[in-house]
Amino acid sequence: MRLVVDLNKCQGYAQCAFLAPDVFALHGEESLVYNPNAPEEQRERLARAVAACPVQAILADGLDDLAGEPGSGSGREASDGR
Ligand code: SF4
Repeated sequence: MRLVVDLNKCQGYAQCAFLAPDVFALHGEESLVYNPNAPEEQRERLARAVAACPVQAILADGLDDLAGEPGSGSGREASDGR
């Protein structure tokens, strides 16, 4: 899943690096590095990191459905090809 950190907002609090260390890492005092294509299995950690960021600097695609129960959908992929 794709994510973006607004580094202008990021204050280097490192909440994200603490909660999702495979996705975020802090190099030095304030420079955050992250994986912009976080693997699916990091979804839950990523959601926690997004929620924990004090300045809401993390934007991630496809986290909305995390609020629902996992696996509650039909799991079918509609292909909408033309
Ligand atoms: S939690 Fe937010 S402010 Fe802190 S390092 Fe991560 S993105 Fe930056």
